[in-house]
Amino acid sequence: MTKYFVLSALLALPLMACKASELPKILAGYATTYEVAMPEPHTHFFEIRVRIDDPEVLKADHVDFKMAAWTPGSYLIREYAKNIEGLTATAGGKALNAVKTSKNTWKVTGHQGQPITVFYRLYAFEISVRTNFLDASHGYLNGAATFLYVPQLMNKKSLVKIVPHASFEKVSVALPEVSKNAFEAENYDLLVDSPFEIGNHELLEFEALGVKHRIANYSMEPLRYDRAKLIEDYKKVVTGSHNVMGGKHPCKDYLFIIHHLAAGGGGLEHLNSTTCQTSPRVYQDPARYESFLGLLAHEYFHLWNVKRLRPVALGPFDYESENYTHMLWVSEGFTNYYQSDILRRAGLIDVNRMLALLAGNIGTVENQYGNKVQSAAESSWDAWIKFYRPNENAQNSTISYYNKGGILANVLDMIIIGNTKGEKSLDNVLQNLYNDLYLKKDIGFTDEQFFAECSKVAGENLTEFFRKYVFGTETLDYARYFAMVDTDSDIRLANPNTPYFGAVARTGKVTRVDYGTGAYQDGINVNDEILETDGRPFTSVEAITAGKKVGDVAKVTVLRNGVQLTYDIRLLQDPRVRVTLTPKNSADAVAKKKFNKWMHIR
Ligand SMILES: [Zn+2]
Repeated sequence: MTKYFVLSALLALPLMACKASELPKILAGYATTYEVAMPEPHTHFFEIRVRIDDPEVLKADHVDFKMAAWTPGSYLIREYAKNIEGLTATAGGKALNAVKTSKNTWKVTGHQGQPITVFYRLYAFEISVRTNFLDASHGYLNGAATFLYVPQLMNKKSLVKIVPHASFEKVSVALPEVSKNAFEAENYDLLVDSPFEIGNHELLEFEALGVKHRIANYSMEPLRYDRAKLIEDYKKVVTGSHNVMGGKHPCKDYLFIIHHLAAGGGGLEHLNSTTCQTSPRVYQDPARYESFLGLLAHEYFHLWNVKRLRPVALGPFDYESENYTHMLWVSEGFTNYYQSDILRRAGLIDVNRMLALLAGNIGTVENQYGNKVQSAAESSWDAWIKFYRPNENAQNSTISYYNKGGILANVLDMIIIGNTKGEKSLDNVLQNLYNDLYLKKDIGFTDEQFFAECSKVAGENLTEFFRKYVFGTETLDYARYFAMVDTDSDIRLANPNTPYFGAVARTGKVTRVDYGTGAYQDGINVNDEILETDGRPFTSVEAITAGKKVGDVAKVTVLRNGVQLTYDIRLLQDPRVRVTLTPKNSADAVAKKKFNKWMHIR
């Protein structure tokens, strides 16, 4: 034991010295060079060296190194600097002063004009699409959470040299590889927008629309899928997405990083890639597989909507603080609408399924009381403090800009198709803005530019529509809008004769109380432990209403702060609605044309 300890301590010394040493120039021509090593992946630490070579910046008596506080696409301050430890700086063989001057800034002095190398260890053990992860099975890097930057050098080229652990064979990233495992980023924005997958993932390749696409499948469990069919479905998603925007595909190549995990989900969009989480069993489960294809369509469509066509606040970014916009209902909500629409265009779902998905989304929104409290524009603005930080009252006070924005996209699509007799659709709004603002000027749209383009394509002044339904919380006249595309919408109480308790308490502990229900009005609180209902031990919320009628009362005993309390809870009518959309199938040719345009029937 002792011997082993002494030996390992001796070995460790030169190794530590080596880690913190200066990074030699790997390739000339880069203002910033990064080296990312992972000698002990099971400890979850990346070891990073960043070298600054720019003579102008080095002239100054100090250089600030910063870490981003959030990553585009995920609107929450995540304080990535919290994962940095052991930061040191050197130049010309000498240790420099590196002093923290804010939560995410290190001020380096004493370099006397020489190239500076900063070394840091980066803890990476948060498995999400917006953070970093490293274990014995793989490494995953998000640029914003990984790379220190010097503000004056953000618009200059950088080089990233990955030194994979000996057990990792592949490095996949949507950046050009200039030498083995060394990748070039045109600027810091692109570096942040190019996640790295490092390990032994399965790599698939296909070509679509003249663009090379790669799929990096990470999984600890063996994946079982029909390779040819999977690639065929990816191609359908790609061409279906492109069908919305048309024109030249803006990517040189595109990378799907797919993390197959026992738990988790969701994705994050990037300029030329995406990272998505799904289950290793997704390929055997048709329902999950459909929603996986929807996720792929969502993230892929983002390469246009939000990564290129974007609100003014979303690029160029301030990486250190919140970037506010009223328009996430467009960036995320429209993408939510188009994810189903793309599957429909691609023939991956039929008309009935498409209508069921749209109806389901309306039900989700209309059954959430927060829809009457928070507008789509407010939901977007407050994403940073509300959507990404929901509390126990979120159902009563907020609405998702994904779901509400999806409905607004659908309704705008129907208005445009209806007004133009099936000649135009919401696609035209996006195409026009993309061509005029992104392709010609690479700038984002203002709220006013977006509203004006919608009105122009719809041939109708929509100012009042946006006031009521985007900045306001008025309920949409669904029947009127669906009629514009020859469809009946039926929205009615799903269970009018069923009594409703109004609280969620899966294991007896109340986690949510819905506004206006008996539980809300008659005294049940979040965190109450339901002990008994009508003298019987609690088993489920459903058991409270079993055998009762609307208007009956349930005697509910709860434990709150160690005190037992009993309440008479009125069991009111179940307020939830069900939405059904049915094609009218009119004989009229124009009506048919509108429906077919909306549902992509050729
Ligand atoms: Zn999205």
